[in-house]
Formats: sequence, structure tokens, C-alpha cells
Amino acid sequence: MRLDLHTMMLMTSVLTLLLSGLLALAGLHAGSIRGARLWALASLCYSLASFIAFADLTPTSSGWLIVLVVVLLLTGNSLQFSGIQAFKDQRIDWRIPLLFFGVAFAQSVWFTLLHPDANARAIANSLVFAAINALCARALLIRIDPPLRTAYWFTGVSFALLAAAALFRAAILFQAPPGTSIGLSSLLPFVPVRFLASSLILMCVTFGFMLMLNYRLITDMQKIALRDSLTGALNRRGLEEEAIRLAARCTRTGDSLAIMVIDVDHFKSINDRCGHQVGDKVLQRLTAVAQASVRSDDYFARYGGEEFCILLPSTTEEEASVLADRLRQAYAALTMEFGGEVLRSTISIGVADSNHVGLEFSALVSAADQAMYWAKEGGRNRVAAHSVMVCKVPAMVTA
Ligand code: GH3
Ligand code: MG
Ligand code: MG
Repeated sequence: MRLDLHTMMLMTSVLTLLLSGLLALAGLHAGSIRGARLWALASLCYSLASFIAFADLTPTSSGWLIVLVVVLLLTGNSLQFSGIQAFKDQRIDWRIPLLFFGVAFAQSVWFTLLHPDANARAIANSLVFAAINALCARALLIRIDPPLRTAYWFTGVSFALLAAAALFRAAILFQAPPGTSIGLSSLLPFVPVRFLASSLILMCVTFGFMLMLNYRLITDMQKIALRDSLTGALNRRGLEEEAIRLAARCTRTGDSLAIMVIDVDHFKSINDRCGHQVGDKVLQRLTAVAQASVRSDDYFARYGGEEFCILLPSTTEEEASVLADRLRQAYAALTMEFGGEVLRSTISIGVADSNHVGLEFSALVSAADQAMYWAKEGGRNRVAAHSVMVCKVPAMVTA
């Protein structure tokens, strides 16, 4: 089998152009995910460089054409680095691509036009490519949760391979005896097999980035599906998923799991008096107060309407009642002001734990819900514990 270099260059140019279009489209529709457009530009640079190489690059090509190809390839590589920073929601440090662009331009002008030395130019180019690819690899080979880790590491390893190949090429060229005519291989890896290998790894890098986009979209959608849009708290589905996970953990460890059901008192009248939008803001304030008072391993969720839930692992009903009363007091002490109107509100909380009703989520919720209604009956702005209520102890409601 014979590999035809020019056909491969044309194919690389067409494929990278297609990838550039795909990435540009993904960038248009990926919403808050950044970096895709920078990668689209990077692929466009690779496509142009491959096309110029296909159309006109020979040892006797104009020196400026060689400079242009080197600069296009390095600009593409640098844009990929900036795209990775953008994807990770970091501030793009434009000094890095500018530095690489400057070095590539200066050294290719120097070794091509001012002091022609194809070998020195190829060594310098290889070292610059090794450096930028190593930077990209370093930015991606980090600790990150699955499934994004697979995509990060696939892309990172591909960049690391490109960096290693560039270093290997620099080492080979460095060992070439002085005065050796290295011809075209000073411009690109013009040995067909090497060109094929480097093009394939370059594609792997771009496919890796597309995988990163894909996984990010999936994880973002999963997060949205488990969150309440008004308050940002977990929604009912999110809470149920956490409850299943926590119940399995408590079964293993024998720990108790407590739950609070929180309901805003006379919320309908807040809506009626101040309007639905003010009602929404009250729910957001309650969320802020509750999230500030829960511990890092508790789960706060909007269960529906103006009802909220908190799951408290390794907590008994008694301990949860103390926390619930602290939350009740903190919320009652809050003075809210909306459009000049001062508003105060209270909550009623029901508490239950797995020691009394078991680890089944529905049983826990219904017990705490029952206790909450009992707190309402007791006069509202109260905490009621389910087991106390069941035992019918006289002081069942703590005000
Ligand atoms: P109680 O003290 O007995 O709990 O009285 P309440 O008025 O709070 O109880 P009720 O359950 O009758 O009223 C709940 C109200 O919450 C009715 C509904 O219109 C309102 N509500 C539900 N979801 C939302 C929301 O997302 N935003 C706003 N502003 N109101 C909501
Ligand atoms: Mg209510
Ligand atoms: Mg209610």
C-alpha cells in the first residue's frame, strides 16, 4: 500500500474544515459553554495550513509561504489552549497565544528569510509546538469527576502525544550532521506515515474536545433536571435521588437519617396582599436562610409550592428539632422589604427520623409532613417532632 502525501494533505484540510464548521455550530448552540468557537477557529487554521501545504508547499516555495504555514499551525494550537481555558470557565490569558505567535513568527522569519537555516527552523518550530501541546495536556490531565474525566484525559493524552512527537522530531533533527539537506521534512512531518500519524492525533484532539462539549452538556442538563429554577435548591426529584443514596449509606453504617418538612405560614395571604412576584422573592429569602443554616452534608430541597425539605444524615429527631428551631427563629427574625413594603413571615416545621419510621423516603416525608400539620394546628411558627406526637406526650409542640 502506498500512502499519497498530497491526497492525505487534501483530506486533512477538508476534514479539519468540516470539524471547524461543526464546532462553530456547537458554539452557537452550546449556550453557556465557552471555548467551542475558539476551537472552530483553530480547526480553520489547521485546514488552511493543510490546504496551502497541499497546493504549494515545496522546498522551493516562497519563504513567506513557509512562515504563513508555521504561523497558522501555531495560531491554531494556541487557540486550542485558550479554548480549553474558556471551557474550564477560566479567564483567557491572551498573553500565552500572543507569546507563541510572536516566537513562531520571529523564528520562522529569522531562519527562513534573514538567515536561512531549514534545520534550525525545524528544531525551533518543534520545540515551540512541544511547549504549547504540553501546556494543553497539562491543562486537561487534572482531577475531575467522571464522565468529564474520560473526555478530558482522552484529549489531554492526545496533546501529550503531539508534544512527545514534536520533541522526538526536534531530537532527530538536532542529531542530523551539519549541512545535511533535510528538504521538505524541515517544514512538516513530510514522511507520509508520520504525516498520517500526526493528522490522526490532531483529529483525536478535536474529537476529544467534542466529547468534552458533549459530556458537559449532559452534566449541565442533569444538574438542571435536579434543581428548582426559582430557588436553585434541589427539586423533588433531586431530593428523592439523594434520599435513596443516603438510605443505602445509613443501612450500611446503622446511622439515623432525619428529615424536616418546612411550610411557610399563611403564604397565600402574602401572595394575595403583595403579589405573586413578592411571594417568589420570599421563597428565595427562605432558601437563603435555610441554606446558610444547614450543614455541608445536609440536603435542602424545594419539595413543591411553598414546602421545603431538609435531609439530615447521621442526625436524630431530637438533634434535627434543635436545628429546625434555630432555622425557624432565624427566618422569623428576618425583616424583608419589597418596594417599600416591610414584610415578616414565619414557618412551621415537622421533624421525623429513621429510628422511628424507617429509612423509606415516603415514610419519612409523610411522618414529617404529619408533624408539620400538627405544628400548624398548634398555632404555626412552631417545630413539631413526629415521635413525640405519636407518643402523645403533652408538651409535643415546642414553640
Ligand atoms: P398555611 O399557613 O396553612 O400553610 O397557609 P398557606 O396560605 O401557606 O397555605 P396554602 O397551601 O393554602 O397556600 C400555598 C400557596 O402557595 C398557594 C399557592 O398559590 C402558593 N404558591 C405555590 N407555589 C408558588 C410559587 O412558586 N410562587 C408563589 N409566589 N406562590 C406559590
Ligand atoms: Mg403554607
Ligand atoms: Mg403548603
